[in-house]
Amino acid sequence: MNAPVKTVRQLESYIAGDWVRGAGKAVPLLDAATGAEVALIDASGLDMKRALNHGREAGGPALRKLSFHERALMLKALGQALMEAKEEFYALSTATGATRTDSWIDIEGGVGTLLSYASKGRRELPNTRTLVDGDVEALSRDNTFSGQHILTPLEGVAIHINAFNFPCWGMLEKLAPTLLAGMPAIVKPASQTAYLTELMVRRIIATGILPRGALQLISGSVGDLLDHVDCQDVVTFTGSAATGRKLRAHKAIVENSVRFTMEADSLNAAILGPNAVAGTEEFDLFVKEVAREMTVKAGQKCTAIRRVIAPRAAVEPLIKALGDRLAKTALGNPGEEATRMGPLASLAQRDEVRARIAELQGDAEIVAGDPSQAKLTSGDAEAGAFLSPVLLYCDKPGSAKAVHDVEAFGPVSTIIPYETAEEAVELARRGKGSLVASVFTNDAAFAREAVQALGPWHGRVMLGNRVSAKSSTGHGSPLPVLVHGGPGRAGGGEELGGMRSVKHYMQRTAVQGAPWLLSEVTGRWMQGAKTRQDGIHPFRKSLAELEIGDQLVTASRTVTLEDIEHFAHFTGDTFYAHMDEEAAKANPFFDGRVAHGYLIVSFAAGLFVDPAPGPVLANYGVDALRFLTPVNPGDSLQVTLTCKQINPRETEDYGEVRWDCTVTNQEAQLVAQYDVLTMVAKSWPA
Ligand code: NDP
Repeated sequence: MNAPVKTVRQLESYIAGDWVRGAGKAVPLLDAATGAEVALIDASGLDMKRALNHGREAGGPALRKLSFHERALMLKALGQALMEAKEEFYALSTATGATRTDSWIDIEGGVGTLLSYASKGRRELPNTRTLVDGDVEALSRDNTFSGQHILTPLEGVAIHINAFNFPCWGMLEKLAPTLLAGMPAIVKPASQTAYLTELMVRRIIATGILPRGALQLISGSVGDLLDHVDCQDVVTFTGSAATGRKLRAHKAIVENSVRFTMEADSLNAAILGPNAVAGTEEFDLFVKEVAREMTVKAGQKCTAIRRVIAPRAAVEPLIKALGDRLAKTALGNPGEEATRMGPLASLAQRDEVRARIAELQGDAEIVAGDPSQAKLTSGDAEAGAFLSPVLLYCDKPGSAKAVHDVEAFGPVSTIIPYETAEEAVELARRGKGSLVASVFTNDAAFAREAVQALGPWHGRVMLGNRVSAKSSTGHGSPLPVLVHGGPGRAGGGEELGGMRSVKHYMQRTAVQGAPWLLSEVTGRWMQGAKTRQDGIHPFRKSLAELEIGDQLVTASRTVTLEDIEHFAHFTGDTFYAHMDEEAAKANPFFDGRVAHGYLIVSFAAGLFVDPAPGPVLANYGVDALRFLTPVNPGDSLQVTLTCKQINPRETEDYGEVRWDCTVTNQEAQLVAQYDVLTMVAKSWPA
């Protein structure tokens, strides 16, 4: 059962460090299933300019003081704290119409996103406050002028205006990259389900994990907030295309070139491949996926399948299979364990979906479900916003308009037949840009053609088949590591996608100058920057002693034919270029037998390694290894090893050290170049 809400509480906003109420008349928010009042909401009269300034003056500077790893650890602590409090969120979540499974996506999916960014941030970002982006561009022959792109956090506030369907995930999926980038946020949840977001923000603030000003909340309307944005702020929006368009054209946003990301209506498609007819595993998987997407969150998911594109020959069995499956969906009170689908978020939302179904009926006929009445297994059909899953069929999709244009944000999908493989993808593209399309096929040629054609029109394409069936995360799940967003109608934004989304909250700047100055600025050594050769082998230095630019130039070693033969027989690599003079000469790259690349790397290690136990704990790989000049017997090798980047780990007593390694021959030609990656103790003896 729904958790009884004892007292109807007025929601508060969290502005400039205080929980405050609006000055106007608060509006009641109703339980989606029972119609009972859950909370009251109003944010009128709140000082939005003060909120922005508080974020800019307190939150931003505090976050920017922290390194990426410190911010990532903050997200981890926050995720763990929220996970501990999760049952409280689940209890309130039923009022939004969400079943336990729906709530899991929202609550634990959201916390999981925080934790994913916490872990990825520490693995993929350096423990610095400035991010180096890409390689150094040498702009002079003598290495006295170079260029390097860097990313620094914007100094404003990220305003996140969110949709009603995911009160927790919707906040957390945007908050994670924002905070990791070093930007504070003001979250404005959709009013309908804001009570759950408010509860979660209360718990976040109470942990004391976030610095002051890093997170503020508006429970209610944003008032004049957007009038005060400037070029250092970011506005993200999730909701209807109509509101999105209005906000995107807001005077202050346009005049100040404020970054505006939008995620709106999306007529996502699932395509059943030409060969995936009834009786194939892909057909069965397709039926399961479409039914699941229609019923999870009662279809109120931005990624839900709205258009079911199938070979004309498969339509009849598809209608039957889907109809049977949907008819078995237990629709009722989301608090009941037996319930598979709960109500829509509100009665108004149900009216909206019914109106959209009526529009779709201009192009399509209903083949399963009845929008006017819902068969319930529990709950109150009068007071709750229940709607049966509704399946439509559009026989002439080429001339149809509504099925490609109208998003019914509920348990509603339309089956669309196609004649040829080209037509199938063409129909998907009629959605004018979507978040996701899925293609169910076991045919490589169709998969290749489909992905190529769907790519420009979609943020994500999922290939479903018998091999991935068990492990697939499904059509509808945005993942923290993959792009979530889509072109055109889907809004043109790109949320999530690993570190890509962190960069949306940062400014990319090309910095040019003398390499040693650039190195000082970025904390990353580059050719032409200062070096230090103080007679102490850099492998004898702990992180406390090691400096960027510490360098070792080794003795030389001559490579003999015996070395090459020994290495060949020892490793089993007897490739002709190392073993056969005539054949090697005939090769356009070589002038006779050459040393193995891995022999060069091995000899290089033999030259630069300091063997005794010391602060260097492990070698965990090389990056960007290139062999640039062939090495013939009689050539000699010399190594220059320079400390390039030091990345101490916050929670360990060691850190990563990246070494620039160049191997040259007796004529000072570059033979090999790469980065050596090691783990080095913070102090030694430990
Ligand atoms: P809205 O666009 O009305 O609302 C989205 C968010 O914008 C809410 O937080 C809302 O706040 C806020 N908002 C509305 N007007 C303004 C304004 N003038 N200035 C600032 N913020 C504003 O969408 P709904 O949530 O009502 O959903 C309506 C439809 O949108 C759905 O039926 C569905 O079709 C589509 N939708 C699409 C989604 C997608 O990702 N594809 C996700 C959710 C909805 P408040 O609630 O306080 O009005």
